[in-house]
Amino acid sequence: MTHPVPPQHMVTRFAPSPTGKLHVGHGWSALLAHDMARAASGRFRLRIEDIDGTRSRAEHVAGIIADLRWLGVEWDGEIIFQSQRLERYDAALERLRAMGLLYPCFCTRADIQASLTAPHGPEGPVYPGTCRGLDPADRTRRIAEGQAHAWRIDMGRAVARVGTVGWTAIPFSAPSIPRGDDYWQGERSHVATPLAHGDVVLARKDAPASYHLSCTLDDAAMGVTHVLRGDDLRGATDIHALLQALLGLPSPAYLHHPLLVGPDGRRLAKRDGSIALADLRAQGMAGDRLALHLRAGRFPIGIRLANA
Ligand code: GLU
Repeated sequence: MTHPVPPQHMVTRFAPSPTGKLHVGHGWSALLAHDMARAASGRFRLRIEDIDGTRSRAEHVAGIIADLRWLGVEWDGEIIFQSQRLERYDAALERLRAMGLLYPCFCTRADIQASLTAPHGPEGPVYPGTCRGLDPADRTRRIAEGQAHAWRIDMGRAVARVGTVGWTAIPFSAPSIPRGDDYWQGERSHVATPLAHGDVVLARKDAPASYHLSCTLDDAAMGVTHVLRGDDLRGATDIHALLQALLGLPSPAYLHHPLLVGPDGRRLAKRDGSIALADLRAQGMAGDRLALHLRAGRFPIGIRLANA
């Protein structure tokens, strides 16, 4: 168990990817992280996760900023843009490479899908390790020839190097968040199982780093003490805890909140334009009223917490 962070040093963040319009679930998540920091007289930061050059759009960045302002979510300090931090990701990749923990992977999506041996992990098929055993000379030749490749972490080696890792979990009690002096009282240690995720990608073929690497490095660089994010990223936290141990980074506490689902029980997604914050804004809804409802766990008709 980590020692509780004195509340006035609390730093939370909201870290959207500008790949579509934010929906009500994003707004609720941002409000939770914002309010948790404010209740503790801490800081709330905004980070735009825009390393995916093909899917990130400037118009969505502008939309995110407008949505948050409309809801009354104010962030401290400068907005951090991941696209401006690529050298930092490169430097960390270089360190991991020097530890002998990364290998280039030339597999295409189709290659991986075609592999009958692909085992299943918590988030679907796990990379079967096809390129892990490639001959070093073969690797060098293929890279020199300019063959597209990602960089994967050899999870077995990485775990052998750091041993058991874990993270501090703060339980979520619907619909609100732990506040004030007692925010940390429910903290408990969670033993991570990074091996279950297999050799995940840390630098993509089409992007200079993966979400796992950039997110872990930036949370540390921004001094984030408490990460609030959706339940869908609980598994990712195991990988982030491992990267923190490998790179000597501090480990924040994590609160994973349930996702919001629509009438069909499916989680809200950016493709469901009907519940985009920008659309509600355009319809003339008052952002402060919506924020009041979301804070009380009252969601627009047909939307509810998963499993609630
Ligand atoms: N950028 C991620 C997303 O929009 C969230 C990252 C995080 O909160 O760790 O899904």
